[in-house]
Amino acid sequence: MTDIDWNDETTRRQDALLRDLSSLLAIPSVKDEQSATPGMPLGIESAKALAFILDLAGREGLRTASIDGIVGYAEYDATDEETGADYIAVLCHVDVVPASGEWTSPPFEPTLRDGRLYARGALDDKGPAIAALYGLLIVKELGLPLRHRVRLIVGTDEETGMNCMDVYNRHELPPVAGFTPDADFPIVHAEKGQVNSRMTLRFSEGSARQNESGLVGYRLRSFQAGTAANMVPDRAEAVVQGSPAQLERLITAFWSYCANKQIVGSMASDLTEQNAAAILRMEGKSAHGMAPETGDNAGIRLLEFLYEQPFTGDDRRFIHAAVELLAGDTSGTALGIACCDEVMGPLTVNIGLLRYEPHNRDAYFHLNIRFPVCTEGEAIVANIASRIEGYGFELTPPILKPPHVVPSDHPMIPTLQKIYSEHIGMEATLLSTGGGTYACKLASCVAFGPLFPGEPDTAHQQDESIAIDSLMQATALYARAIYELANLDYSQRKEG
Ligand SMILES: [Zn+2]
Repeated sequence: MTDIDWNDETTRRQDALLRDLSSLLAIPSVKDEQSATPGMPLGIESAKALAFILDLAGREGLRTASIDGIVGYAEYDATDEETGADYIAVLCHVDVVPASGEWTSPPFEPTLRDGRLYARGALDDKGPAIAALYGLLIVKELGLPLRHRVRLIVGTDEETGMNCMDVYNRHELPPVAGFTPDADFPIVHAEKGQVNSRMTLRFSEGSARQNESGLVGYRLRSFQAGTAANMVPDRAEAVVQGSPAQLERLITAFWSYCANKQIVGSMASDLTEQNAAAILRMEGKSAHGMAPETGDNAGIRLLEFLYEQPFTGDDRRFIHAAVELLAGDTSGTALGIACCDEVMGPLTVNIGLLRYEPHNRDAYFHLNIRFPVCTEGEAIVANIASRIEGYGFELTPPILKPPHVVPSDHPMIPTLQKIYSEHIGMEATLLSTGGGTYACKLASCVAFGPLFPGEPDTAHQQDESIAIDSLMQATALYARAIYELANLDYSQRKEG
């Protein structure tokens, strides 16, 4: 199509790019409610970061705009006359997560070491944002004709709820195609939907009285596991009351259960009082909630042990619901919601939080469900609600996020695949994820880089960094992608 040497165009701008990136990285644009005002909803530093990149784009001759101080864009229009409303978008963000932990060099003093640039935001997402801006500037400076306008959209609260893109979508029409440089290469085109809800126990009337009097079985005084809905709990603790003789039996059973199942357990008890208590703890394996099958839910493990013990009333209903509805696998079989499709794989259920506090009449399991396109959030909720009813549970109002898929026949996809494989010399396999990327906030938007296969993911970590070679490679890819996507014909698609 052209004989532009995209790598050469990028290399010639490397010094300027790194200088601008370093200035942006020096702004500690962490959400700051203290300094937030209506015009600066994420605080003064986030506002500075947005202003920095829009000013830079403006000086280079791009048209810029800010919407409510939370999101902005820089636009390049090289179309001749009839442009229409169609545009291509590159979606990036300039907010960062806090820089906790021990850093080798200060997180907001960008430092070059061994071919990598170290700073909070170097990889997520200021490095890629500047790469995309430079990609657009390369296309502009080459004076290439474009069929569609190109917009670099810059958000400021990707890390804290992505409200910036809700604001954007309320004010602006969606692009015909776009990508976000905020995940992995080659191309992430599909993201599972999510359902987040709590299964809460309806305590039976008079259960408190029943628990006080009856000493037929043990009593579960409290149970807890998990600290975040999107993580697999790696620790669980149950406090069980009973007579000293009962608890001695329980403790013996506990140790042999742990030994048989090769579970790391620990225990504390005081059996001197008539109404004694034992604290039972089990360990599992933590994992991200989007891949619960790679972890081992300590809460479920401990409840499986308690299932074999003689509990009654609400205690028993809590334990039985967990084991009969939630244990066994992470694909939702017992809840009646298991399904799987070719693009995204199986539905997964993570039980991120497990709580039982009968003294507060509070007991729930937090369900973090990620589902492929073969089902729908509403159907999942309806199935679960009917399945848990007989156990005395109900669902809190669910938070639904639909799946996000750009079909592989969207004209953007083969174009990005061709660009990637020609530059990198590897096949551009389409990826799907159980996690959420920024792309889900924009119709017809995929994730395209910045992390190449095999590179360490340092986002949100201490000593966050990006390899300079990768950053420059990504810039060349973004320049060419912008140029080619802005010259595709999307009219077939819109009519179809
Ligand atoms: Zn990001």
